[in-house]
Amino acid sequence: MTVALASRLCYSPVGISELEERWTPAKAGRLIDKIMKLGHYSVLEHAVFTFGIEGISRATSHQLVRHRLASYSQQSQRYVKADEEFEYVVPPSVARKRRLEKRFTEHVEEVGRLYRELVDAGLPPEDARFVLPNAAATKIIVTMNARELRHFFGLRCCQRAQWEIRGMAEMMLGLARAAAPRLFSRAGPGCVGGRCPEGELACGRIKEVRKAYRDWSSQERRPPLADEPKEPGKKT
Ligand SMILES: Cc1cc2nc3c(=O)[nH]c(=O)nc-3n(C[C@H](O)[C@H](O)[C@H](O)COP(=O)(O)OP(=O)(O)OC[C@H]3O[C@@H](n4cnc5c(N)ncnc54)[C@H](O)[C@@H]3O)c2cc1C
Repeated sequence: MTVALASRLCYSPVGISELEERWTPAKAGRLIDKIMKLGHYSVLEHAVFTFGIEGISRATSHQLVRHRLASYSQQSQRYVKADEEFEYVVPPSVARKRRLEKRFTEHVEEVGRLYRELVDAGLPPEDARFVLPNAAATKIIVTMNARELRHFFGLRCCQRAQWEIRGMAEMMLGLARAAAPRLFSRAGPGCVGGRCPEGELACGRIKEVRKAYRDWSSQERRPPLADEPKEPGKKT
């Protein structure tokens, strides 16, 4: 509603209160559809969305915070001590190989013991955390406006994005579509709304990706796509 009102105000001689009084959801909906078609996205900046994210790795939160037009609050490793058995993320590629998963787990747990030893020896957590791995799980709250979110989804729902941030971005898009379908129903990786922007590095799954986004029902948290991309460079 705010987005539509902001858009209407640009072309209306009357005041904001008067516009609000005359306003109906149907009128607002029609106007938003028009804005989305024309690509007049600046008014989308009036709508903001906040997500509470838990259990992603530090590797992924580092990628997330590269998106500058957003606000973040992340659990601090300076002030919140990790338990000896801190939470961590095991990538599926590791989990599929039993021997490597065992080595991975042993290593991360040894790191946890070293971390605890450093803290117990009186080191501040801000120094002890230097031994913690990228796999360490984190919690973060992020707020983005709808225009930036659409940009974020374009980059991070793409099959070229790393699997963990892609999975998270897809779930965020699912929530955004449910909350504001008019703003997000056609959002997603670049190829969903036009040509693939990846050129020679295209994932080779364009038809499959477009279909998955078209068929994505509100019952599914993520678009119905198999997780494994084909080799980069192949095009469909
Ligand atoms: C598949 C993939 C691989 C990547 N690989 C790497 C990598 O190897 N190394 C690496 O360092 N990063 C990498 N990144 C991160 C990438 O370079 C961007 O930092 C990140 O995606 C944020 O995107 P952004 O700058 O468009 O967006 P945001 O920071 O979200 O900004 C949105 C838009 O606002 C505008 N904007 C924001 N700030 C400015 C500014 N200061 N000046 C002018 N315009 C601005 C731009 O138009 C920008 O696109 C990768 C990203 C992806 C998706």
